[in-house]
Amino acid sequence: MAYSPPHSAEALNSADAIRHRILGTFEERYGHDLLSFEDALAIDEDFFRIAFKPYKWTLLHRFAQNCLWEEWNYLRRKADEEFVLESSRLLQHFKIPFSDEEYSDISKQKDYLFELLQEPLKRITHEVFCILFNDKKLMRCFGERISDAIADINPSQYPLYVHAQGRLKRSSSWPAWLRDALFYRENGRCAECSNSLTGVFDTSLKPQIDHIVPISKGGTTDPTNLQTLCESCNKKKGNSSSQVGGFIYIPWECELY
Ligand SMILES: [Zn+2]
Repeated sequence: MAYSPPHSAEALNSADAIRHRILGTFEERYGHDLLSFEDALAIDEDFFRIAFKPYKWTLLHRFAQNCLWEEWNYLRRKADEEFVLESSRLLQHFKIPFSDEEYSDISKQKDYLFELLQEPLKRITHEVFCILFNDKKLMRCFGERISDAIADINPSQYPLYVHAQGRLKRSSSWPAWLRDALFYRENGRCAECSNSLTGVFDTSLKPQIDHIVPISKGGTTDPTNLQTLCESCNKKKGNSSSQVGGFIYIPWECELY
C-alpha cells in the first residue's frame, strides 16, 4: 500500500475554510468571502464533463482548487512582501526549487512565484479532498448546493450532458477504482443499515452504487455524490430522498478509566 504522508497544516487550514464555504458559514467564521459558492464551482462545459461520470479529479477538487487559486491570487494583488514570503514558504515546504533573487520589479517576481505555486496548490487541493471526502454529511450538502446552483442553467447550452428538462444525463459505468474507493470509505458496509457487504457473512448482499442526491433532484455522478448501499436499502431509498448514512463507527475496544 502506498505511503500516505500526514496532512500539511496548509491543507488542514484550507480544508476547514472549504468546509465552511460548502456549509455556507464561511463569512461567520472568516469574515468577508472573496468567492461565492457558484463562482468557485465555475459552471461551464468542463464542469458538466466532470459531473457527468466519475473522474478521480472530482468536482470537490475543482471547487477547492478554484478557492485556493483565488485566495493566493488575492494575496498577490494586495501584498508584495507578504506574498513573496508566504509563497516562498510554501514552495520550500513542498521542496519545489525556485530562485530567491530579488527582482527590481516586484510584480515580475510575484508572477514568477505565482506560476510556481500551481504545483503545490494542486497537491494541497488533493489533500483537502482526502480530508473532506470522508465526511458524508458534508458531501450531501455539497451535492445539494450543486443541485441548486445548476437548477437555473439553460440546458440547451450543454446538450452533451444535460437533458432538456435540465437534469444530468445518466451515466452508469462504474469503474473498478470507484467501487473500491466507496467500499473502502464505507468500511465494506452498507452506508445506510451498516450490514457487511464483504460477502463474508451474507453472500447475497452485493454493494450497489447510489446517488446521494438523486439524478432526478439535480444530483451529479461525481464520486462526491455517490455511496454504496445494500440492495434492499437502495430499493427503499428510491429516487426521492438524499439521505446519507452517518459515519460507520468501528468500535475501538479499551478499558475506560
Ligand atoms: Zn443496507
